[in-house]
Amino acid sequence: MTSQPSDASSRKAAKPIVCYTVENLPPFDKPFYELARTGMQKIDEVMVPPRDAGTFKVPAGHLFRISSVEGSQVGDLNLWNAHDLNERFFSGKTRQLHASHLTTGDRLWSNLPSLRPMATITHDTLDWYGWDEDGGGVHDVIGTRCDPYTNYMLSGVDYHYCCHSNLTRALAAYTGKKPAVVEHHIHDVLNVFMCTGFTLDTHQYFMKASPVRPGDYIEFFAEIDLLGALSTCPGGDCSSSHSDDTTPCYPLHVEIFKPVDGVLENWQPATRSGYSKTHGL
Ligand SMILES: [Zn+2]
Repeated sequence: MTSQPSDASSRKAAKPIVCYTVENLPPFDKPFYELARTGMQKIDEVMVPPRDAGTFKVPAGHLFRISSVEGSQVGDLNLWNAHDLNERFFSGKTRQLHASHLTTGDRLWSNLPSLRPMATITHDTLDWYGWDEDGGGVHDVIGTRCDPYTNYMLSGVDYHYCCHSNLTRALAAYTGKKPAVVEHHIHDVLNVFMCTGFTLDTHQYFMKASPVRPGDYIEFFAEIDLLGALSTCPGGDCSSSHSDDTTPCYPLHVEIFKPVDGVLENWQPATRSGYSKTHGL
């Protein structure tokens, strides 16, 4: 619509710089997390059925693992402070601090005003995937979660097993409250095992068949006491459609682990942001 200015090419040639001084993030202490993983003992587990969601609690200093079982399936993960649902995973800031897709060493940050690591990714069996020729990657924080409102807007169909609804039902069951009362606590997710990106020509959000296979897993260390909820997306492996009952879908397995005694002796849960919160007044 608008004709290019004469200096368009020089304006577009400005060099991109990474927005945040991420060198100042707390470093990923690989030896510590490897020690925490070694000899850990399973203390709890949840099998999330297809087109549903389940909740789980992870004490600070423990680990949790999400595994593919039976078939290729993606999951939508929500995390809260186990003692305060108002503190929850902040996918947008996590994306800005790390990248559009997460892997080992990246952290899942909480919302303002706490802004602290809720969990650290300690192992990812899909770390080999990297970036494919379409610009896709695995475990994104660029999408949100499939939801019945967008589905209704685009298709005119009332569908009740989108990730948003699955997570809402699971949180309702956990809290003993009605879905409408807890729905606002559902937030943007980590798209576990999902392969996504932006199309190279039009920069539209795309999905493609997940490379996850039974036996693959992603594992996290809880930096604070966590309540988690995981939805098995009705999109299955997200190779074709979603928000329907025809796509093949499979369970996802969540396991909680306790590290061996002594590993956490000099470790402390993550602390909230030290900002004064005076906002200039
Ligand atoms: Zn979904």
